[in-house]
Amino acid sequence: MPDTLFIDGAWTSAIGAGTRDIHCPADGSFVATVDEADDRDTVAAIQAARRSFDSRVWADVPAPQRGDFLLRVAAGLRDRKEEFARAESLDTGKRIVESRIDMDDIAACFDYFGKLAGQDAGRVVDANDPNVVSQIVAEPVGVCTLITPWNYPLLQAAWKIAPALAAGNSFVLKPAELTPHTAILTMRLLADLGLPAGVANLVLGVGSECGTPLSTHPDVDMVSFTGGVVTGRLIAKNAAATVKKVALELGGKNPNVVFADADFDAALDNALNAAFVHSGQVCSAGARLIVEASIAERFTDALVQRAQAIRLGGPFDDRAESGPLISAAHRDKVTAYVEAGVAEGARLRCGGTWGEGDLASGMYYLPTVLDRVERGMSVVADEAFGPVVTVETFTTEDEAIATANDTIYGLAGAVWSQDAGRVQRIARRLRHGTIWINDFHPYLPQAEWGGIGQSGFGRELGPTGLAEYQEQKHIYQNLSPAVTGWFAEHTDD
Ligand code: NAD
Repeated sequence: MPDTLFIDGAWTSAIGAGTRDIHCPADGSFVATVDEADDRDTVAAIQAARRSFDSRVWADVPAPQRGDFLLRVAAGLRDRKEEFARAESLDTGKRIVESRIDMDDIAACFDYFGKLAGQDAGRVVDANDPNVVSQIVAEPVGVCTLITPWNYPLLQAAWKIAPALAAGNSFVLKPAELTPHTAILTMRLLADLGLPAGVANLVLGVGSECGTPLSTHPDVDMVSFTGGVVTGRLIAKNAAATVKKVALELGGKNPNVVFADADFDAALDNALNAAFVHSGQVCSAGARLIVEASIAERFTDALVQRAQAIRLGGPFDDRAESGPLISAAHRDKVTAYVEAGVAEGARLRCGGTWGEGDLASGMYYLPTVLDRVERGMSVVADEAFGPVVTVETFTTEDEAIATANDTIYGLAGAVWSQDAGRVQRIARRLRHGTIWINDFHPYLPQAEWGGIGQSGFGRELGPTGLAEYQEQKHIYQNLSPAVTGWFAEHTDD
């Protein structure tokens, strides 16, 4: 048996003896067999986290020392970067160069929270009374469950693990069932570096089979979820019964607004990155290109030409510029999404088919451009999470803003123009959690990330990303206790 669940400091197999074979989506090759948990394993992991939290074994470690531990995690990740990157690429099919970038970003995230830990010692507030000392202190929330998707498996987990540990919590991590390996490697690293047993726990498996206790179990204090909006709604609903703290990082349908006065070549090149990096399996993908009508035809023609030239290939193909989709089921979903758009009247400019020839053994879907789309069509409203971009047009600034905001989501968006006043005006009016001006995709560990609307609530990264995993407690001390006399003693009764 593989023994790939990590519960209470020990590697273990699933109680129900479930297993899963992981295959690389780039060519279908076998990667490894891992354990597949059910509810019983998850409850055991939650209980281990509860015991460790209640023992204060990690929560009472001074915050700067917890920070030092995270800095050592960052160093360990850098030492083992190639092993981690390879594991990520085999599970996801993404190019090894992209996985290496992910590992650098992950180490930077641990560094950031490592340095942040302990910097804020709370504050003393003025109670307007010399006999009162009133403090605000940040305390760990308790047992946190961390649920993550398959597109950036360890990156999304790191955005939760690093602040959760920095704040002194215990946690149970459940990565997506298709991409477990970097989570396994991370647990090994945490254990090697001496994290006390039960602070970090790992369960692997399908959400509907092993995931429910993560949002329902009374021993869980907080659930932090990154994934699709449908799952997010279910988790929020489940968590409401015991009034858990909830953070949701959900999908996006992200507008990329290009004005005629933008730097054409830079906007074009970035429109390509926005839509097709990691085959569009990016929550902040610029899947809605919104172009000023006067340049729309020229811009779209150039985009189509460039999209058709993108080279697809596996993790270790040096010529590849993008990789496969995660699974056959996901490719079917993307296929159906494009077909629905065409049936609704969109014009297929390129792509819309699976990879052939050398690509036939993997889950490849060709970069796809759809134009002649309108607001309200499913391809404009719904997240594809694949290499698909739709093109809409506008003639005025107000129309551009209204179009970009016409979505249930609100994760990220971009505006391209050389008019400094216009880009600032628009950035302020777009209802999305991150706005890029004359750029697309960069994020910083020190800057908050998260959604507006149905892209979720709560923030990851930045100081707020740490505060998510803390409770702000008010301690009020009366230095001169005295009888208040509010209620009479009524001794004569
Ligand atoms: P998903 O919602 O299907 O699954 C996400 C995770 O939730 C997986 O680990 C899954 O096993 C688990 N899960 C499913 N049902 C569950 C349940 N009932 N209880 C507990 N856990 C359950 O999403 P996905 O397909 O893995 O990921 C793609 C989605 O993630 C996209 O919508 C994408 O936009 C979103 N995403 C958002 C961000 C962000 O920062 N906002 C980042 C990456 C991905």
